[in-house]
Amino acid sequence: MELIRGAAELRARVNGPRSVGAGVGLVPTMGAIHGGHASLIRRARSEQDLVVVSIFVNPLQFGPDEDLSRYPRTFDADLDVCAREGVAVVFAPSLDEVYPGGEPQVTIEPGPISQILEGKSRPTHFRGVLTVVAKLFGLVAPDLAVFGEKDYQQLVLIRQMVVDLCMDVEVIGAEIVREPSGLALSSRNSYLDDEQKTLALTLSRALHAGSQAAELGGEQVLAAARAVLAADTARGNAVDYLELTGLDLGPAPEAGEARLLIAARVGSTRLIDNTALSLGTALGTSEQGSN
Ligand code: AMP
Repeated sequence: MELIRGAAELRARVNGPRSVGAGVGLVPTMGAIHGGHASLIRRARSEQDLVVVSIFVNPLQFGPDEDLSRYPRTFDADLDVCAREGVAVVFAPSLDEVYPGGEPQVTIEPGPISQILEGKSRPTHFRGVLTVVAKLFGLVAPDLAVFGEKDYQQLVLIRQMVVDLCMDVEVIGAEIVREPSGLALSSRNSYLDDEQKTLALTLSRALHAGSQAAELGGEQVLAAARAVLAADTARGNAVDYLELTGLDLGPAPEAGEARLLIAARVGSTRLIDNTALSLGTALGTSEQGSN
């Protein structure tokens, strides 16, 4: 496995000699690599010969009051995981390498989807995410890139960017990896003490309760999830949003594939989670229609 720090060196490596027909897969991360990242790497490896993992904590996607300075950094352990998973290249650039002139003057404008859900409390977040992902696509010119459904809104926006800006990259969404308890793996889980970890389980429990009610329709999904949250809010969880949407984050359909998304603060840590569900109409059309 090669560790590359410079953009020019990376470009030379991915453009250099490779076996005929070998493609490049990219897995962008901010490090603090865990089982969720590893599953993305495995997915990329199953599809492409040369897998590049980027490790870069991108300041452009953090708001002024967010956790940039204390974001977990576990670089040596990250390299071990990448080596074990058969990664060909780890690209770990410095801040100067990614933003040589400081904050970039040209950035990606992510449009209206960036202002809902996460965007309500993090209005500039997706501008930062899409800008760095576009830069990585430009540098690596991957055939495909893998992103986790854990950050579902991010995945939707990256797909939109690729379509709207005619980028020649196949975007693959990988399923959320969870602890046996149901808690979605996240680098930010390392901020949680044992008690907060128990509280954090409320998110996945609410999503699970919601998905169990999916056959009954959207109202029942939200009611079931809210019932779990109501029981736990008193214990210190502050829910930011719980929303049921369509797969494109537009309004949820009356019946069919939908997404239930949640964000909450546990102590000072903001966590997000979501789940796929298939809405049914088990209550019948008259009741559905009255909503
Ligand atoms: P991050 O390092 O948090 O920016 O995440 C890098 C990539 O890993 C993103 O595409 C995330 O959606 C994905 N990811 C993070 N946590 C998980 C998880 N629990 N399961 C699957 N993918 C994940």
